[in-house]
Amino acid sequence: MTKAQIQIFFERLREQRPHPQTELNYGSPFQLLIAVLLSAQATDVSVNKATTQLFIDAPDAQHMYDLGVEKLKNYIKTIGLYNAKAENVIKTCKILLERFHGEVPQTREELESLPGVGRKTANVVLNTAFGQATMAVDTHIFRVGNRTGLAKGKDVLEVEQRLLKVIPKEFIHDAHHWLILHGRYCCTARKPKCGECVVSDVCNWKERFAYGAEIPHLQQPQLES
Ligand code: SF4
Repeated sequence: MTKAQIQIFFERLREQRPHPQTELNYGSPFQLLIAVLLSAQATDVSVNKATTQLFIDAPDAQHMYDLGVEKLKNYIKTIGLYNAKAENVIKTCKILLERFHGEVPQTREELESLPGVGRKTANVVLNTAFGQATMAVDTHIFRVGNRTGLAKGKDVLEVEQRLLKVIPKEFIHDAHHWLILHGRYCCTARKPKCGECVVSDVCNWKERFAYGAEIPHLQQPQLES
Protein backbone atom coordinates (compact mmCIF):
# COMPACT_ATOMS: atom_id res chain seq x y z
CA MET A 1 0.00 0.00 0.00
CA THR A 2 1.37 3.44 -0.84
CA LYS A 3 1.82 6.24 1.69
CA ALA A 4 -1.17 8.09 0.24
CA GLN A 5 -3.34 4.97 0.42
CA ILE A 6 -2.34 4.38 4.05
CA GLN A 7 -3.28 7.97 4.91
CA ILE A 8 -6.72 7.50 3.33
CA PHE A 9 -7.12 4.06 4.95
CA PHE A 10 -6.78 5.47 8.47
CA GLU A 11 -8.68 8.70 7.78
CA ARG A 12 -11.66 6.55 6.78
CA LEU A 13 -11.38 4.23 9.78
CA ARG A 14 -11.16 7.29 12.05
CA GLU A 15 -14.21 8.83 10.42
CA GLN A 16 -16.11 5.61 10.94
CA ARG A 17 -15.08 5.22 14.61
CA PRO A 18 -13.78 8.52 16.00
CA HIS A 19 -13.25 7.12 19.52
CA PRO A 20 -12.39 3.45 19.21
CA GLN A 21 -12.18 1.47 22.41
CA THR A 22 -11.54 -2.03 23.57
CA GLU A 23 -14.71 -4.06 23.96
CA LEU A 24 -13.43 -5.49 27.25
CA ASN A 25 -14.93 -3.87 30.35
CA TYR A 26 -12.47 -2.59 32.94
CA GLY A 27 -12.13 0.20 35.47
CA SER A 28 -8.38 0.33 36.09
CA PRO A 29 -5.10 -0.86 34.53
CA PHE A 30 -5.22 -3.85 36.89
CA GLN A 31 -8.68 -4.85 35.70
CA LEU A 32 -7.63 -4.39 32.06
CA LEU A 33 -4.63 -6.65 32.61
CA ILE A 34 -6.81 -9.35 34.16
CA ALA A 35 -9.47 -9.01 31.44
CA VAL A 36 -6.84 -9.35 28.70
CA LEU A 37 -5.30 -12.37 30.45
CA LEU A 38 -8.72 -14.00 30.58
CA SER A 39 -9.50 -13.16 26.95
CA ALA A 40 -6.93 -15.49 25.38
CA GLN A 41 -8.88 -17.79 23.07
CA ALA A 42 -12.17 -16.46 24.45
CA THR A 43 -14.58 -13.80 23.27
CA ASP A 44 -14.69 -10.36 24.87
CA VAL A 45 -18.40 -10.93 25.56
CA SER A 46 -17.70 -14.07 27.60
CA VAL A 47 -14.95 -12.30 29.55
CA ASN A 48 -17.20 -9.31 30.31
CA LYS A 49 -19.93 -11.62 31.60
CA ALA A 50 -17.49 -13.20 34.06
CA THR A 51 -15.70 -10.04 35.16
CA THR A 52 -18.84 -8.02 35.92
CA GLN A 53 -19.21 -9.67 39.34
CA LEU A 54 -15.52 -10.53 39.71
CA PHE A 55 -14.39 -6.90 39.53
CA ILE A 56 -17.04 -5.87 42.07
CA ASP A 57 -15.86 -8.51 44.56
CA ALA A 58 -12.15 -8.29 43.75
CA PRO A 59 -11.37 -4.92 42.18
CA ASP A 60 -7.61 -4.89 42.85
CA ALA A 61 -4.59 -7.15 43.18
CA GLN A 62 -4.93 -7.63 46.95
CA HIS A 63 -8.60 -8.63 46.85
CA MET A 64 -8.04 -10.87 43.82
CA TYR A 65 -5.10 -12.57 45.54
CA ASP A 66 -7.19 -13.05 48.68
CA LEU A 67 -9.81 -14.91 46.63
CA GLY A 68 -7.33 -17.66 45.84
CA VAL A 69 -7.35 -19.99 42.85
CA GLU A 70 -10.39 -22.10 43.73
CA LYS A 71 -12.76 -19.21 44.45
CA LEU A 72 -11.53 -17.37 41.36
CA LYS A 73 -12.38 -20.42 39.23
CA ASN A 74 -16.03 -20.09 40.29
CA TYR A 75 -16.19 -16.63 38.73
CA ILE A 76 -14.45 -17.53 35.47
CA LYS A 77 -15.49 -21.13 34.79
CA THR A 78 -17.54 -20.09 31.75
CA ILE A 79 -14.32 -18.92 30.04
CA GLY A 80 -12.14 -21.37 28.12
CA LEU A 81 -8.91 -22.55 29.78
CA TYR A 82 -10.14 -21.21 33.12
CA ASN A 83 -8.02 -23.57 35.22
CA ALA A 84 -4.72 -22.35 33.83
CA LYS A 85 -5.97 -18.76 33.71
CA ALA A 86 -6.97 -18.82 37.39
CA GLU A 87 -3.51 -20.07 38.34
CA ASN A 88 -1.83 -17.36 36.26
CA VAL A 89 -4.06 -14.57 37.59
CA ILE A 90 -3.34 -15.44 41.22
CA LYS A 91 0.41 -15.80 40.55
CA THR A 92 0.34 -12.45 38.73
CA CYS A 93 -1.42 -10.79 41.68
CA LYS A 94 1.20 -12.18 44.05
CA ILE A 95 4.01 -10.69 41.97
CA LEU A 96 2.19 -7.35 41.61
CA LEU A 97 1.86 -7.19 45.40
CA GLU A 98 5.43 -8.28 46.13
CA ARG A 99 7.29 -6.33 43.45
CA PHE A 100 5.05 -3.50 42.24
CA HIS A 101 3.05 -2.34 45.31
CA GLY A 102 -0.06 -3.88 43.78
CA GLU A 103 0.18 -1.66 40.67
CA VAL A 104 0.54 -2.72 37.04
CA PRO A 105 4.06 -1.95 35.76
CA GLN A 106 4.42 0.28 32.73
CA THR A 107 7.29 -1.34 30.86
CA ARG A 108 7.16 -4.24 28.42
CA GLU A 109 9.91 -6.17 30.24
CA GLU A 110 8.15 -5.98 33.60
CA LEU A 111 4.77 -6.85 32.10
CA GLU A 112 6.18 -9.82 30.21
CA SER A 113 7.71 -11.12 33.44
CA LEU A 114 4.17 -11.77 34.76
CA PRO A 115 2.73 -15.31 34.37
CA GLY A 116 0.59 -15.66 31.26
CA VAL A 117 1.55 -12.23 29.94
CA GLY A 118 3.10 -12.37 26.49
CA ARG A 119 4.02 -9.68 24.00
CA LYS A 120 0.44 -9.23 22.79
CA THR A 121 -1.06 -8.78 26.26
CA ALA A 122 1.75 -6.39 27.21
CA ASN A 123 1.10 -4.35 24.06
CA VAL A 124 -2.63 -4.10 24.79
CA VAL A 125 -2.03 -2.91 28.35
CA LEU A 126 0.69 -0.43 27.35
CA ASN A 127 -1.53 0.98 24.61
CA THR A 128 -4.94 0.99 26.25
CA ALA A 129 -4.12 1.63 29.91
CA PHE A 130 -1.00 3.76 29.55
CA GLY A 131 -1.44 5.44 26.15
CA GLN A 132 1.77 4.11 24.63
CA ALA A 133 2.09 3.74 20.87
CA THR A 134 2.24 -0.04 20.74
CA MET A 135 0.60 -2.46 18.34
CA ALA A 136 -0.81 -5.71 19.68
CA VAL A 137 -1.16 -7.93 16.65
CA ASP A 138 -3.92 -10.48 17.11
CA THR A 139 -5.49 -12.76 14.53
CA HIS A 140 -7.64 -9.90 13.14
CA ILE A 141 -4.79 -7.43 12.71
CA PHE A 142 -2.55 -10.12 11.24
CA ARG A 143 -5.20 -10.91 8.63
CA VAL A 144 -6.07 -7.28 7.80
CA GLY A 145 -2.39 -6.29 7.54
CA ASN A 146 -1.55 -9.10 5.15
CA ARG A 147 -4.75 -9.12 3.14
CA THR A 148 -4.97 -5.41 2.41
CA GLY A 149 -1.26 -4.98 1.76
CA LEU A 150 -1.00 -2.49 4.66
CA ALA A 151 1.62 -4.55 6.48
CA LYS A 152 2.59 -7.92 5.13
CA GLY A 153 4.53 -10.33 7.31
CA LYS A 154 4.95 -14.04 7.87
CA ASP A 155 4.43 -13.81 11.63
CA VAL A 156 2.85 -11.42 14.15
CA LEU A 157 6.14 -9.79 15.08
CA GLU A 158 6.91 -8.92 11.46
CA VAL A 159 3.42 -7.44 11.00
CA GLU A 160 3.74 -5.50 14.28
CA GLN A 161 7.07 -3.98 13.25
CA ARG A 162 5.84 -3.15 9.76
CA LEU A 163 2.69 -1.47 11.11
CA LEU A 164 4.68 0.64 13.55
CA LYS A 165 6.85 1.74 10.63
CA VAL A 166 4.16 2.61 8.09
CA ILE A 167 1.33 4.07 10.17
CA PRO A 168 1.48 7.89 10.33
CA LYS A 169 2.04 9.27 13.85
CA GLU A 170 -1.38 10.91 14.09
CA PHE A 171 -3.08 7.50 13.85
CA ILE A 172 -0.67 5.29 15.76
CA HIS A 173 -2.36 5.34 19.16
CA ASP A 174 -5.81 4.32 17.95
CA ALA A 175 -4.68 2.19 15.00
CA HIS A 176 -4.68 -0.95 17.14
CA HIS A 177 -8.38 -0.64 17.93
CA TRP A 178 -9.37 0.50 14.44
CA LEU A 179 -7.70 -2.52 12.88
CA ILE A 180 -9.13 -5.01 15.37
CA LEU A 181 -12.66 -3.67 14.99
CA HIS A 182 -12.33 -3.51 11.21
CA GLY A 183 -11.15 -7.12 11.18
CA ARG A 184 -13.78 -8.29 13.61
CA TYR A 185 -16.79 -6.69 11.92
CA CYS A 186 -15.92 -6.01 8.28
CA CYS A 187 -12.73 -7.64 7.04
CA THR A 188 -13.72 -10.96 8.55
CA ALA A 189 -11.81 -14.19 7.96
CA ARG A 190 -14.68 -15.77 6.04
CA LYS A 191 -16.90 -13.77 3.72
CA PRO A 192 -15.39 -10.30 4.26
CA LYS A 193 -17.90 -7.50 3.70
CA CYS A 194 -15.95 -5.78 0.93
CA GLY A 195 -19.17 -4.31 -0.48
CA GLU A 196 -19.71 -2.28 2.72
CA CYS A 197 -16.06 -1.60 3.43
CA VAL A 198 -15.02 2.05 3.82
CA VAL A 199 -11.49 1.35 2.60
CA SER A 200 -12.21 -0.94 -0.35
CA ASP A 201 -10.82 1.60 -2.85
CA VAL A 202 -7.41 1.63 -1.20
CA CYS A 203 -7.31 -2.05 -0.28
CA ASN A 204 -5.03 -4.19 -2.44
CA TRP A 205 -6.64 -7.57 -1.89
CA LYS A 206 -7.17 -9.04 -5.35
CA GLU A 207 -10.31 -10.96 -4.37
CA ARG A 208 -12.20 -7.96 -2.97
CA PHE A 209 -14.33 -7.57 -6.12
CA ALA A 210 -15.63 -11.12 -5.73
CA TYR A 211 -16.85 -10.05 -2.27
CA GLY A 212 -18.72 -6.97 -3.50
CA ALA A 213 -16.10 -4.20 -3.57
CA GLU A 214 -17.01 -1.61 -6.15
CA ILE A 215 -15.03 -1.87 -9.37
CA PRO A 216 -13.31 1.47 -10.03
CA HIS A 217 -14.56 3.32 -13.10
CA LEU A 218 -11.98 3.74 -15.78
CA GLN A 219 -11.54 7.29 -17.02
CA GLN A 220 -12.96 7.55 -20.54
CA PRO A 221 -10.51 9.07 -23.03
CA GLN A 222 -11.57 12.52 -24.23
CA LEU A 223 -12.74 12.39 -27.81
CA GLU A 224 -11.41 15.09 -30.07
CA SER A 225 -14.13 17.12 -31.76
S1 SF4 B 1 -12.11 -4.40 0.76
FE1 SF4 B 1 -12.48 -6.38 1.71
S2 SF4 B 1 -10.44 -7.23 1.98
FE2 SF4 B 1 -10.18 -5.06 1.67
S3 SF4 B 1 -10.17 -4.17 3.74
FE3 SF4 B 1 -12.24 -4.07 2.98
S4 SF4 B 1 -13.21 -5.91 3.77
FE4 SF4 B 1 -11.00 -6.22 3.89
